[in-house]
Amino acid sequence: MENFNAVNEIQDLQYFGEFGGVNPSISDSSTYTFLSAKTMFDTFEGNADGCYLYSRHSSPMNLYLAQALAKLENTEAANVTSSGMGAITTVLLQLCKSGDHILSSRTIYGGTYAFLKNFLPPFQIETSFVDIGNFDAIEQAIRPTTKILYCESVSNPLLEVADLQKLASICKKHGLKLVVDNTFSPLSISPKLLGADIVIHSLTKFINGSSDTVGGVYCGSQEFINETKNVNSGACMLLGPTMDSLRAASILKNLRTLHIRMKQHSENALYLAERFERDGLRVSYPGLASHKNHELMKSMMHSTYGFGGLLTLDAGTTAKANELMELMQKENLGYLAVSLGFYKTLFSCSGSSTSSEIPEEERASMGISDGLIRFSIGLDQDIERTYQKMRFCMVKTGLIA
Ligand code: PLP
Repeated sequence: MENFNAVNEIQDLQYFGEFGGVNPSISDSSTYTFLSAKTMFDTFEGNADGCYLYSRHSSPMNLYLAQALAKLENTEAANVTSSGMGAITTVLLQLCKSGDHILSSRTIYGGTYAFLKNFLPPFQIETSFVDIGNFDAIEQAIRPTTKILYCESVSNPLLEVADLQKLASICKKHGLKLVVDNTFSPLSISPKLLGADIVIHSLTKFINGSSDTVGGVYCGSQEFINETKNVNSGACMLLGPTMDSLRAASILKNLRTLHIRMKQHSENALYLAERFERDGLRVSYPGLASHKNHELMKSMMHSTYGFGGLLTLDAGTTAKANELMELMQKENLGYLAVSLGFYKTLFSCSGSSTSSEIPEEERASMGISDGLIRFSIGLDQDIERTYQKMRFCMVKTGLIA
């Protein structure tokens, strides 16, 4: 992996507040004054860099956060949005117009899947879903109208790892944009360094890390970011999924500890995955040698941050999964809740929650079984103690003999 240290890059960004504050001041305004009417006109035309016009377009705090996230992903620029879906839909609608075609990995977050499958076709934007590890099938599915290859670097919920270098070379050959959702693997994987054109995050998850807000970002070239903010044709400017400045300020503060949190999430997840596997449970984690993409992930990742905080466990049936999750919540091992990246462990049954938008037969063909539990492992200090308590729950529900 190329020698790039995103954490140093972010650390070197200094934003002082008014009065010398150690955090930047929040600009608590939706609109900005101009000393001359001419400058206001020029700003509308996009010719007055450094001037703020109206906060749906940009605001100081959103620009600070965007700059830090561009550093995280080693891109020229970025733009923050009010949710991860706000970022995903902005990027897709900016790049595709009526008559265009998208190729997408079939194992992606259920909301993204539903947007591609149900929302876009009435606008004559069609999507073909492919196995992201089957390069022949991908090349065969490319049409003259294909504009985007879309995937998650580590997929939700199956934790399939996309070979981004290989996918980037296919995109280059066919003139497609490679758009990568990197929500599950911030700091571990740098999609841009592997050839991605645009990198997206749901900030709601690890990057913010405190489950107190939704947020999103897309990172790419300055030219692309400007296009999305164009007052006449920009998907972000015109659809309006703008992040509030107060939220941008709190997310920026949380971003400062991401490197410490990611190491701990990954360490804890690997510890539990290894022990669950030893106990004979059907566990999947990219850090296990038994994971089909273990070697691929190793070749792509910055090892300091590990294989991530997500693991899955197949409890066999929905009933068994529910019984186990309810017991674990009762034992204060975590919360039965969707989402991920929180300090506390979160668990949910993907088929009946975050992937429920995907039809049952398609879920089955992808390998999302009814009893599949997705765990987002928390920052527990004594992970052996957590393991022993989880093991107790698994014995009690009959998953471990
Ligand atoms: N991408 C991934 C991989 C997700 O898991 C999610 C949400 O679960 C999203 C995008 C959507 O993000 P948000 O809920 O912030 O809109």
